[in-house]
Amino acid sequence: GPVLVAIDGPAGSGKSSVSRAAARALGYGYLDTGASYRALSWDLLERGIDASEAAAVIEALAGFDFTIGTDPDDYFVRVGAVDVTEAIREPRVTAVVSLVARVPEVRVWLNDRFRAIVAAAAYPGVVVEGRDITTVVAPDAPVRILLTASEEARASRRSKELTSESAAAVGDALRKRDAADSKVVDFMNAAPGVETVDSTELDFGQTVDAVCDVVHARLAA
Ligand code: C5P
Repeated sequence: GPVLVAIDGPAGSGKSSVSRAAARALGYGYLDTGASYRALSWDLLERGIDASEAAAVIEALAGFDFTIGTDPDDYFVRVGAVDVTEAIREPRVTAVVSLVARVPEVRVWLNDRFRAIVAAAAYPGVVVEGRDITTVVAPDAPVRILLTASEEARASRRSKELTSESAAAVGDALRKRDAADSKVVDFMNAAPGVETVDSTELDFGQTVDAVCDVVHARLAA
């Protein structure tokens, strides 16, 4: 199968855009696992299913039909025939995604899909990004990276994307989501063998270069 490049990190670390740009530079595919948790959350909201009811969420998996693009130049997420690429970024989705992600059956179900998507990808490699890729989904991946940035840097980057909200409100929301998600998997500390890339002092292009440097170094080793 394709070489797997696993990238984890907290919310607002620039993981998605950095991972996609790195995939493009490497000629690899790209898989955004967080988008899959978001797609399920969107589907639950559409179907009126309470995300805090684990049993109902597990039952809903059987009817959850999602497709996610792996081409870094053609990124999309669909649920059934509906393109949800934009809708899964809505605050109402972000507000419930941690509840959905804490259900162990959901994680096992999605992880199986992620492994199948990577195995079927028509690329020499796939950059897979999320929270538990380096530790649970692909602990044996030849390249494993933890992408971090200071909390201040993450909040200010995210608030530039969400122009309607103050940096303080954005920082607060990130902190809450990271705290909830950290109870499920530890993505704040690098597991043994995982290389940390700290982007606090780097611009976007430098961060992409740093990630690609780690990939080249690891694959050469
Ligand atoms: O990466 P993103 O912020 O879009 O992820 C949305 C949510 O999906 C996270 O807050 C987390 O609850 C969940 N997630 C996860 N494991 C992953 C990726 C995302 O639990 N590998």
